[in-house]
Amino acid sequence: MLDNSRLRIAIQKSGRLSEKTYALLASCGVKFNIHDQRLIAHSTNQPIDVLRVRDDDIPGLIMDGVCDLGVIGENVLEEETMMRERAGEPSEFKSLKQLGFGGCRLSLAVPNEMSYNGPKDLDGLRIATSYPELLRRYLNEQGVKFQPCMLTGSVEVAPRAGLADAICDLVSTGATLEANGLRETDVIFRSQARLIQRKDPLEPAKQELVDKLLTRIGAVMQAKE
Ligand code: ATP
Ligand code: ZN
Repeated sequence: MLDNSRLRIAIQKSGRLSEKTYALLASCGVKFNIHDQRLIAHSTNQPIDVLRVRDDDIPGLIMDGVCDLGVIGENVLEEETMMRERAGEPSEFKSLKQLGFGGCRLSLAVPNEMSYNGPKDLDGLRIATSYPELLRRYLNEQGVKFQPCMLTGSVEVAPRAGLADAICDLVSTGATLEANGLRETDVIFRSQARLIQRKDPLEPAKQELVDKLLTRIGAVMQAKE
């Protein structure tokens, strides 16, 4: 059973955000022992439980009020917000702080041999992505209609595999695109990790703890500048 008196923080179990998130909590003086396969890590010196989940589940855990705080990439947060708004599901949260790590961009990319002069050239084409809402918003603004090809992984191989004409995927260095014979054409969303809180007020003791954590995070980030 989860103890409701303890602050629940949802973080990515293992992936690109995990190490920096663990380091951030550690630098705030929150001690806990991570056992590889465990979902929950109890802090040994603070009334805090860390829930280790897939990053895709974090926005929903906050929007449904299951967890109090979450650390999540803005790309996943924005996609989930738009998806829930469309479905009429709870999509509210409080944004506490951009954390300065996990930087990346969501970009359109086309095969090297394809001529491209702007989004209009994508009209009617099939585009592979894990972010259909963000892609739709961008191309709608450009007046472009496209056919979606939803993939949660291996998006960059879709054109070569004959599944799509172009892709919309996360990029940091561009090396993956290059290795797959693709070139970046439009940046449609810039992202970094963000700390969010559930919308409904926390009990005063929990909110005090959150405020303390925020102050420490601010100090740690400033010391790094
Ligand atoms: P999970 O198993 O938790 O679902 P995942 O494979 O979906 O993990 P990761 O690849 O670990 O996710 O990426 C997590 C987040 O890291 C991304 O949503 C994004 O915000 C950020 N990120 C930073 N750089 C990159 C990059 N080059 N490619 C993908 N994501 C990146
Ligand atoms: Zn994920």
